[in-house]
Amino acid sequence: MVDKAKFIWLDGKFIPWDQAQVHILTHTLHYGLGVFEGVRAYQCANGRTAIFRLPEHTRRLFDSAHILQMEIPFSEDDINQACIEALRQNDQKEAYLRPLIFIGDGAMGLHPQNNPIRVAVITWVWGAYLGDEGLLSGIRLKTSSFTRHHVNVMMTSAKGVGNYVNSILAKREVTKAGYDEALLLDTAGYVAEASGENIFMVKNGIIKTPPSTSILPGITRDCVIVIAKDLGIPIQEARFSRDDLYIADEAFLSGTAAEITPVRELDDRRIGTGKPGPITKKIQETYFDAVHGKKPRYDSWLTYV
Ligand code: PMP
Repeated sequence: MVDKAKFIWLDGKFIPWDQAQVHILTHTLHYGLGVFEGVRAYQCANGRTAIFRLPEHTRRLFDSAHILQMEIPFSEDDINQACIEALRQNDQKEAYLRPLIFIGDGAMGLHPQNNPIRVAVITWVWGAYLGDEGLLSGIRLKTSSFTRHHVNVMMTSAKGVGNYVNSILAKREVTKAGYDEALLLDTAGYVAEASGENIFMVKNGIIKTPPSTSILPGITRDCVIVIAKDLGIPIQEARFSRDDLYIADEAFLSGTAAEITPVRELDDRRIGTGKPGPITKKIQETYFDAVHGKKPRYDSWLTYV
């Protein structure tokens, strides 16, 4: 259960949490066309709260809306301000933020011409998405029988609401079988991403991550690329298969919710030593330093509240 905060920003106004309700004919509820973001705010070492990579998340929100031809009736700056103000109004020092763009009620059917485009920013407190133990010791990943979207089936560069049916099917399948997270392969059979995270493997000191062809181009993925370069660790965007992962030295997932989570097992094969490896640990540590404002090099990623 999400713990209620005081207010939700809906269509330009803060309203009490319990009053943030929509009509049953809300178009997105029926047909799944909507876009959203997942953003985190952390309490920094200096005691202040900062939203991590807020302009980049808002930019991706607008890109997603552009791809899906939804006209957001606010500016990027309005959304950034709504995120900042939501944390202030809710007295939240650390939180997960969920900007959501959806089609409101009006016409039904697949061509809703004049239905309002509605906008919400919801904030709540959310711990480690794949668990504290997962962050520390690594998670068990399982390849799902569900394939990641083909790029001409869903718009994979958009963080579209409906895209997540595929993720939910995969996640349910593997959690029911006792694993922590699902790995999805692309339609050619190569590794794409996890149900809500990008994936990285390490072999002989080189990090590899799938190219952004059928994946959501993650903002945390971008952080990993920047951090790896800064640390002098070679990193490549390259296709690889699930058996490349079986024999990798290390593997990890990246995502706003999951942060940097080591993978200790895939399909019942131990990866490397079965414990988070040195490169994974270094990337994870640097990422956590960055989000907490402990590394001046990454201060431009912080929007103080
Ligand atoms: N892939 C998918 C399918 C996701 O849902 C997410 C989480 N938004 C990611 C990758 C990682 O993206 P980010 O690092 O921007 O959170």
